[in-house]
Amino acid sequence: MTRILLVEDDPGIRTALGRGLGEQGHAVTSVSTGMAALEACLSSEPEMVLLDLGLPDVPGLQVLGMMRAVSRVPVLVITAQDDDRTLVEALDSGADDYVVKPFGLEHVSARIRAVLRRTSVDADAGHDLVLGGLAIRPRSRTATLDGRPLDLSRREFDLLLALASRPGEVVTKRELLAEVWQQPYGGGDRTVDVHLSWLRRKLGETASSPCYLHTVRGVGVRFEVPPRAAATP
Ligand code: CA
Repeated sequence: MTRILLVEDDPGIRTALGRGLGEQGHAVTSVSTGMAALEACLSSEPEMVLLDLGLPDVPGLQVLGMMRAVSRVPVLVITAQDDDRTLVEALDSGADDYVVKPFGLEHVSARIRAVLRRTSVDADAGHDLVLGGLAIRPRSRTATLDGRPLDLSRREFDLLLALASRPGEVVTKRELLAEVWQQPYGGGDRTVDVHLSWLRRKLGETASSPCYLHTVRGVGVRFEVPPRAAATP
């Protein structure tokens, strides 16, 4: 069973698709506007979103952008327009896949399964991370460095996990604000900087002499396994 948020203003499609997916054992919440979709995305924490691009209040692409600022939930876009530009824009804005109307229930189900399979690989929450001398255990919310337990605050732990989950990738402060602080819109760069410096101190490194956490000036932070640690068995 997957908790699915269905965003579709066409009552016929909404009812049929909602019923069909429900019969397949999914728990479906249906809404018909972009604003209701954003609310539901925050309140019901769906595991999958089916998002129609043509909505009466806010354009679906904009809804997608706002969703992406607060959540990494897999999004399957539903569109009546099969023009390449709209689809490319949707994928670039963070959609995981799309279906073009009209479609059958079996087709949508297959796409949902495929998206969930793909996204569960990297969203494997609770999976232990071992990167060089650093071990992070999300389930127990503990971390060790070279075998020594790290005494991290809740934010510091979330920050470390957010960065270590995608080694080698530059993560922007805005992304960190959205993920760790759930503040996608506010300024707050300073908040990130302060917590980063505390985290660095606990990892025994500094911004000017980094080991795991590398500042990319004007962009964000990149987690890297130091070569020495990587070589250690
Ligand atoms: Ca529509």
